Amino acid sequence: MKSAKFIENKIDDLKQRSLTIGSYIGETPLFPIQKLHSNKDVKIFAKLEWQQFGGSVKARPAYRIIRDAIKNGKLDQTKHLLDASSGNTGIAYAHVGAALDIPVTLCLPENASEERKQILKALGVNLKLTSRSGGTDEAQGVAKSIFEEQPEKYFYADQYSNPSNWKAHYDTTGPEIWDQTDHTLTHFITGLGTTGTFTGTARFLKEQYPDIQLIGLQPDLAMHGLEGWKHLETAITPKIYDSSVPDEIRTVSTEEAHEVVKLTARKEGLLISPSSGANLAGALQLAEQLDEGVIVTIFPDDTSKYGEIFNQLF
Ligand code: PMP
Repeated sequence: MKSAKFIENKIDDLKQRSLTIGSYIGETPLFPIQKLHSNKDVKIFAKLEWQQFGGSVKARPAYRIIRDAIKNGKLDQTKHLLDASSGNTGIAYAHVGAALDIPVTLCLPENASEERKQILKALGVNLKLTSRSGGTDEAQGVAKSIFEEQPEKYFYADQYSNPSNWKAHYDTTGPEIWDQTDHTLTHFITGLGTTGTFTGTARFLKEQYPDIQLIGLQPDLAMHGLEGWKHLETAITPKIYDSSVPDEIRTVSTEEAHEVVKLTARKEGLLISPSSGANLAGALQLAEQLDEGVIVTIFPDDTSKYGEIFNQLF
């Protein structure tokens, strides 16, 4: 039987290590998109979120969810972190979990890319594959039922409902963008998945500059290939989504996104993911409609985990 003191020390050690990892998350560059639009009175910047621990925007919420759960005594090395993720959040949980010796169990649709599954396996994740047709909604349902069967074994992170998700962006992504644009931005536009990136960043920016325009993007209703994105009309609405935050919701098709991925490679020298292409497609449309302004969007990750699409496009 381990003494209470031993357990307390272990938890202190875990808290300390989780703070150390936190210093390798965030502080990503803001990149000026210069050659893809002709309206010179509008500036477009994209935040290069792959330049951090785990290679995607999801480092921020995954770390914050884990840190908050450790702080609140809901997670330690005796429990499995459990969640549903189409990829990036899972990979981010896996990196942070491995570094902190916290086991990770993930439910994800079987059609998630092989590269992603391999990364997760390499990081020691216990994978539960769900059907392709059920998509992320089914994966979420399976995660919930695993938790309900054995609540003592798991910490159910539930990124779609967990406020630590949007708070990560409120406390980091938003302030970084505000400072990196020298407080000049006029429009923030990004895609909606769990909606954490949009909701947290937008809330912070609105408090700094009440006239800012906040635009959420969703895929069109065709079977889309925009990893991480959801249709607001047809998918389960994430609990953390607040419909009072966006000034406008726009739609981008997978084809437009792919076209922009190609252009960005050839004209800006960046290899971006399909959802980054979709975000930039939205920003470019917006730029054509404005007389002047400063638009910021997000590049959640790069092409490295999208081998199949990459081969089709280039
Ligand atoms: N793009 C990619 C590639 C993602 O992995 C995600 C996260 N699911 C998003 C966009 C959407 O971000 P969020 O979940 O914060 O809405």
